[in-house]
Amino acid sequence: MRESDVLIVGAGPSGLVLTLWLKAFGVNVRIVDAASGPGTTSRALAVQARTLELYRQLDLAQPVIENGHPIQFFNIWTEGEHRGRIPLGAIGSGLTPYPFFHIYPQDRHEQLLVERLAAAGLLVDRNLTLTGFDEHADHVEARLVDADGHEERCAARWLVGCDGARSAVRNAIGVGFPGGTYRQVFYVADIEGDSPALNGELNLDLDESDLLAVFATAPRGRGRLVGTVREDHAEHAETLKFSDVSKRAIDNLMISVHMVNWFSTYRVHHRVAEHFRRGRAFLVGDAGHIHSPAGGQGMNTGIGDAINLAWKLAAVIEGQAPDGLLDSYEAERLPFARRLVDTTDRAFSFLTADGPVAEIVRTGIAPRLMPLIGKMPGTREFLFRTISQTVLHYRHGPLNSGHAGKVHGGDRLPWVRYDRGDNFAPLPKPGWQAHVYGSARPDLLSWCALHGVPLRQYDWHAECAAAGLEHDAVYLLRPDTYVGLASPRASIEGLDTYLRANALRL
Ligand SMILES: Cc1cc2nc3c(=O)[nH]c(=O)nc-3n(C[C@H](O)[C@H](O)[C@H](O)COP(=O)(O)OP(=O)(O)OC[C@H]3O[C@@H](n4cnc5c(N)ncnc54)[C@H](O)[C@@H]3O)c2cc1C
Repeated sequence: MRESDVLIVGAGPSGLVLTLWLKAFGVNVRIVDAASGPGTTSRALAVQARTLELYRQLDLAQPVIENGHPIQFFNIWTEGEHRGRIPLGAIGSGLTPYPFFHIYPQDRHEQLLVERLAAAGLLVDRNLTLTGFDEHADHVEARLVDADGHEERCAARWLVGCDGARSAVRNAIGVGFPGGTYRQVFYVADIEGDSPALNGELNLDLDESDLLAVFATAPRGRGRLVGTVREDHAEHAETLKFSDVSKRAIDNLMISVHMVNWFSTYRVHHRVAEHFRRGRAFLVGDAGHIHSPAGGQGMNTGIGDAINLAWKLAAVIEGQAPDGLLDSYEAERLPFARRLVDTTDRAFSFLTADGPVAEIVRTGIAPRLMPLIGKMPGTREFLFRTISQTVLHYRHGPLNSGHAGKVHGGDRLPWVRYDRGDNFAPLPKPGWQAHVYGSARPDLLSWCALHGVPLRQYDWHAECAAAGLEHDAVYLLRPDTYVGLASPRASIEGLDTYLRANALRL
């Protein structure tokens, strides 16, 4: 029987990223997928800044940036009238090396991940569907069925369901997926054509009855239309063609469509799994949470889940931590998924509400206010931090200790720029690291050498203070670059206590 440390079911973005990270940690991993090849449709377009920061650790950020494009402006329309143009450009300037909203279609993204995996010596085992598994004391035995109906049994110490919204792993472990489904049916179409809205920017038409968002997928002439299907067509949404959807908003934006490359209708769900772990099985990505695409969060959250889980699985497999570390995956990621579903739900309900008051707000008040609010520095920073997921922290999780300056255990390390480079430069191999902004005492140098923890010393300057860091403090960073311990006096005792409290053997 084939054996691996980790069996990953599902080679969408979550499964591919998890596999890449586990491979980087040297874990014996196998990934299977029911489909014969990677996805060929564009689906998730946005790659958020936090994802790019994490991707930089594995040298993935640059190809994603080079092959996609940033959204420079957000345009608001109502009933055919252009109501405002909000500059986005470097909206997150000073906060991250990636201060923009970036578009990179999911099919190309998955292809890049598959290529990286192949370069690391691993292929996705395709045409294999997980039908169930049995859990034993120290492993699981999974049943995989190929395209001809032959069953293969394989063993793994851990099983991860990255198998999407209809997750077989979630069903097998009997974890509920509570939530609901929105009334409206949506369509998505990747088109080529002419329009003032196919201008490389983001355009949103707020109308009485229709909603249409146009996302540029190229600087000119190509885009993704996301709109609502007319209520009288919603019953037979599966058989609709592009020619059936309401043309009102399309006409409003003066879009003449030359080619429809992909068209699909879908219902939007909002659900979060009751648990992300049961025994030796985990849920990652859409298997654990689904919500409206408003804000482009879904795929990015799955990637964040994967990177959170990867280093913990690697540490347990390497004997650096006890099994209990794996419980922190659910403790850190489930509350975030719940908050995300709430926020995207509010945004989505606003965009799609009907009734006279909602219409006045959406077509009268919002288009006037949004361009004004969108130019206020405080609001822009808040919006960028939220959408880019750079605001996400694990302060309330179980793995944190201390604070130094404004930075707490569980925070994303603030970004600081230097004349040559910045403080986010990746390690040769992802792992724990310590940062000091100022100078490190000899006992800290010895402690880091003893535990094999790279110590990075950065010059102290005004930007460090502005970012909330403290002079000469030590920040112990986890392999996913979140702060584990922040110690203002860089105390060795504090570092030892932190390792002992979390039973970590570095
Ligand atoms: C039309 C559409 C538009 C979208 N737009 C956006 C957007 O704008 N922004 C955004 O962030 N997100 C968007 N999404 C959502 C985004 O595509 C998902 O969040 C993302 O694909 C989730 O990745 P995943 O890897 O968790 O799951 P998936 O991509 O669903 O991958 C699951 C994989 O598991 C495999 N699988 C399933 N069951 C089994 C089994 N039993 N055995 C073996 N393999 C199995 C499947 O073949 C699949 O390859 C959109 C989705 C759709 C459908």
